[in-house]
Amino acid sequence: MAYRYFSTVPLPSDETAYPVAVTLEGDEAHHLIHVMRVKEGEPLILFDGSGAEFDAEITQVRKKDLTAEIHARRVEDRESETKISLAVALPKGDRQRWLIEKLVELGAAEFIPLTAERSVAKAGDAAAQRMNRVVVEASKQCGRNTLLSLAEPVTTKMLFSPEFAAAPENAQTLKIIAHPNAPTLAELLARPENQGLKILAAIGPEGGFSDAEVAAALESGWEKVSLGKRILRTETAAIMICAVVTD
Ligand code: SAM
Repeated sequence: MAYRYFSTVPLPSDETAYPVAVTLEGDEAHHLIHVMRVKEGEPLILFDGSGAEFDAEITQVRKKDLTAEIHARRVEDRESETKISLAVALPKGDRQRWLIEKLVELGAAEFIPLTAERSVAKAGDAAAQRMNRVVVEASKQCGRNTLLSLAEPVTTKMLFSPEFAAAPENAQTLKIIAHPNAPTLAELLARPENQGLKILAAIGPEGGFSDAEVAAALESGWEKVSLGKRILRTETAAIMICAVVTD
C-alpha cells in the first residue's frame, strides 16, 4: 500500500503538465527517509489540504529531502455534508490530543479554542502548534484531504456576544451551548427550522459554564442542549456532538 503524506506547500494542480517533480522537506520527508526508509521507485500518495490527493512515485532520496514525481490528481471529498464548528474549552495534556484526533476522524470542519471563565488550560501558540501536528497526522491516517480548520482562540465574552451572532458568517447557523437540563440534541436537530443549517457548538471546561456565560449565550440566540443524564468530560461532550451531527 502506498504511504500517504502531507505537503505543506500547495501541489501542482495542472494535470496537463504531469508528470511534475516536487520536493518534500521537513518532518514529512524526515519520516519517509529515516523511519519508513523509502526507496526510489516506491509509490506515494500526497495531499496538501486542498481537497485532492495526488499519486506520485519517489524518484530521488537524499539525506534531508526527497523528490517525487506526481502523475495523477483526484478530488476525493471525504468531508461531512453537515458542517460543524466546535468551540471547546481546552482540556489538559493528552486529552487535548485525543480530542483533536477524534474530531478530525469524525469530520469536524472547524475547531475554536475557547477561553471560558473556569478554563484551566491555556490556548496559546504552543497548544496551536501541537494541535496542528495532530490535525495533519490524523488526516493522513483517516484519508481526509481537507484539513480541520484551527481557528484563533476566542473568549466566551466574544463567542456569546450579539456582535458574534450577527456576523454574516454565522448566519444560517444553529448555535448550541452544551449545558445540563435542556432539550436533547436529538430534539433540537429534529426541529424543521434547524434542517440544513451549519452547527456551532460550545462546550465548557471541567468546571462548567458560569450562569452569566449561559445567560449571555441565551440572550444572543444560542440554544441550550443536554447530552443526557450523565455528566461527560469536556472532550467526550465535544466528540459526542460531532459524532451525532456528521456523516
Ligand atoms: N460540573 C460541571 C457542570 O455542572 O456544568 C460539569 C462540566 S462538564 C465536565 C464539561 C462540559 O461538558 C460542560 O460545561 C458542558 O458544556 C458539557 N457537558 C457535559 N455533560 C453534559 C450533559 N450531560 N449535557 C450537556 N452538556 C454536558
